[in-house]
Amino acid sequence: MKVAVFSTKSYDRTFLEAANVGGQHDLVFFEPRLNLETSVLTAGFPAVCAFVNDSLDAKTLRAIAQNGVRLLALRSAGFNHVDLAAARDLDLTLVRVPAYSPYAVAEHAVAMILSLNRKIHRAYNRIREGNFALDGLLGFDLHGKTVGIVGTGRIGAITAKILHGFGCRLLGYDVSQNPDCEALGMEYVSLQELFAASDIVSLHCPLIPETYHLIGAGAIEQMKPGIMLINTSRGQLINTKAVTKGLKSGKIGYLGLDVYEQETDLFFEDLSNQVIQDDVFQRLLTFPNVLITGHQAFFTEEALKNIAESTIANITDFEQGRTCPNQIYLDKLKK
Ligand code: NAD
Repeated sequence: MKVAVFSTKSYDRTFLEAANVGGQHDLVFFEPRLNLETSVLTAGFPAVCAFVNDSLDAKTLRAIAQNGVRLLALRSAGFNHVDLAAARDLDLTLVRVPAYSPYAVAEHAVAMILSLNRKIHRAYNRIREGNFALDGLLGFDLHGKTVGIVGTGRIGAITAKILHGFGCRLLGYDVSQNPDCEALGMEYVSLQELFAASDIVSLHCPLIPETYHLIGAGAIEQMKPGIMLINTSRGQLINTKAVTKGLKSGKIGYLGLDVYEQETDLFFEDLSNQVIQDDVFQRLLTFPNVLITGHQAFFTEEALKNIAESTIANITDFEQGRTCPNQIYLDKLKK
């Protein structure tokens, strides 16, 4: 099947070509993001392969459907960037990669916790400048601290398991309880209780209308002074302006972000020769207790291999008219 692959980086190409055994699909790689402007490139392609910051709004979906696209194969688990109602009305088939490596994301969340706590990001620079003073690098034992996990699905559960190994007390909040987490001794509590009792809060729930700006002024108010907040899930779970206020007042003691509300304009590109226009983002970078990575939590060899193999299998299932286990059934959506 002829597939237009958008937002292609060299690593996407390497892993997708390796997974496309025997050249079963005709993959055509495009560097630009998919949006209304670039949708013209999809003419003659029955399938489009897209990533997290491609714009899959109603207008773009209409344009690609008019060009003959029938399949939208996401190289991501999250599909919050797809206008699902429009995709359903256009009779597009939507497939995704629900689980490629929950370990990759969970391990990155824990890397952020450890780095922020022990100030590894600051120590790295100091040592290179010949500054061996320890002032300002004081950390705390993770052992015995209370960690609140919001969203205890695949990634949240593995994060909990790793932190259990450090001797942390685990609190959880989810709309459904995970027996694997309960087996670790996780106590499920209300969000309010989780915020009030946790030394560290790590977000692992999806971005849906109910979780948009889950962390705003009200939530921060309920948190312990000096809380460590980690977000490796989706940027819009956090109201960045409210969090900046919390950092300025000292209520938030540490912030680790792998995702950012307005990341579409920044992440995955080399902007080092440009003036960044996003003042909210630039303000975050001025805090010594903020660590930001550019949506790289998923970025391990194992994850990229799994994403590529599942994507190729999803496309093959569609081409051969087989039931695809990774299809999102849009007809079940409310009209
Ligand atoms: P999952 O579906 O296995 O788990 C999500 C959990 O959130 C489920 O247990 C679900 O019940 C829970 N949930 C749903 N609504 C909720 C609510 N209102 N409040 C609290 N919990 C709620 O998903 P996963 O594989 O663990 O992934 C979690 C998130 O991680 C994804 O939605 C995605 O946004 C993000 N993610 C980020 C990266 C990255 O590179 N940074 C990579 C993959 C996934």
